[in-house]
Amino acid sequence: MRKRLLVQKFGGSSVANVERIQNVAKRIASYRRKGHDIVVVVSALGDTTDELIELANKINTDPSEREMDMLLSTGEQISVALLAMAIHKLGFEAISFTGAQVGIITDTSHTKARIIKIGAEKIKEALKKGKIVIVAGFQGVTVDQDITTLGRGGSDLTAVALAKELQADECEIYTDVKGIYTTDPRIEPKAKKIEHITYDEMLEMASLGAQVMQARSIEVAKKFNVPIHVRSSFSNERGTMITKEAKVMEDVVVSGITLNKNEAKITVCNVPDKPGIAAKIFKELSGNGISVDMIVQNVSHIRQTDISFTVNKADIAKAIKITKNVARRIGSGEVIQDEDIARVAIVGVGMKSHPGVAATMFETMAKNKINIEMISTSDISISCIIKKKSGELAIKALHEKFGLNKK
Ligand code: ADP
Ligand code: ASP
Ligand code: MG
Repeated sequence: MRKRLLVQKFGGSSVANVERIQNVAKRIASYRRKGHDIVVVVSALGDTTDELIELANKINTDPSEREMDMLLSTGEQISVALLAMAIHKLGFEAISFTGAQVGIITDTSHTKARIIKIGAEKIKEALKKGKIVIVAGFQGVTVDQDITTLGRGGSDLTAVALAKELQADECEIYTDVKGIYTTDPRIEPKAKKIEHITYDEMLEMASLGAQVMQARSIEVAKKFNVPIHVRSSFSNERGTMITKEAKVMEDVVVSGITLNKNEAKITVCNVPDKPGIAAKIFKELSGNGISVDMIVQNVSHIRQTDISFTVNKADIAKAIKITKNVARRIGSGEVIQDEDIARVAIVGVGMKSHPGVAATMFETMAKNKINIEMISTSDISISCIIKKKSGELAIKALHEKFGLNKK
């Protein structure tokens, strides 16, 4: 068999305890036995990252982002060392590295840094010496030697970027489900595994809340055409291939359904209805590194209007502070925050050529007495903001209505 270079990423749940770390080590060893070169990317054990965030918030509710990165990057440093030890125990040579050590250079936007370049010399040297290389996911370093992290789920990005840089033969993402499903299998047990999915659909699903892959990692995979195999770390079954094109039956309209409970809604009431006002609000938010998602402006009859938009929950405190400030300056009314929301979305390239998909979605919501608060669409998706408690019901109802239960 030809010697191949494999990049294998193991998520937090795959290394949540000693037994699982040993299980991952055995899998890596089995590929090594076949003679392949292996670069492993690993996430922090289990819920470590969440726990570290919680810990930080107990000390300071508005922690410095630089210090946050310093803290969060320790999670992955623990896993790489433990995994290397587990591999040694099996009699194989392995060496662990932090992001900084392997030259993953990023910009300075702490907690969501972008990779500028990857040196990778250390990786190549270690591979040449016959070692299994284990790289800490989710982290990099600025040119000034400050540690950065790549946004939640960022180990996926580390894996894809390394696969590109090293021109790996395969980029495998090992997780706790057997691949990409028609919807989150933890919510809808009837969800089906998808054999092939396009970058575009996966990117849309990831951006809309399917946490199984980090959206930015798919952007990079698409840009450099890196095929990704998402599969289970608990079985040998083939998972899902994410590629440029996917063979699908023509009549597939909706490929996947997503639920996102990580957004919050902000409403600015009684905004003066004149040019330039929306620009003022959103310029200030983006200037402070806050991305705004869905935006709805109500029809105005009295030269005043309400503007609602959603932001990531993690940004809510900062976003509210900024919005209140602008609201005062432009003479608008109250600023209301609502965290009791969820976004459900249907995704599918087939939507472009099938009329009536939106109507079917809205009818399904109505039939289940779910009120829609906001709507937004893209070429290949339709999303609705609804009350959080109706999220699961909406997913199940749409999954059935669009024929995904029996796919
Ligand atoms: P890891 O720790 O391996 O990075 P994540 O928790 O980030 O794993 O992602 C895997 C989880 O994503 C699954 O356990 C599943 O509940 C969730 N998920 C959400 N949507 C989907 C989907 N469409 N297909 C598969 N898994 C999904
Ligand atoms: N540990 C990081 C997180 O929980 C990165 C990752 O798991 O991909 O977001
Ligand atoms: Mg993940």
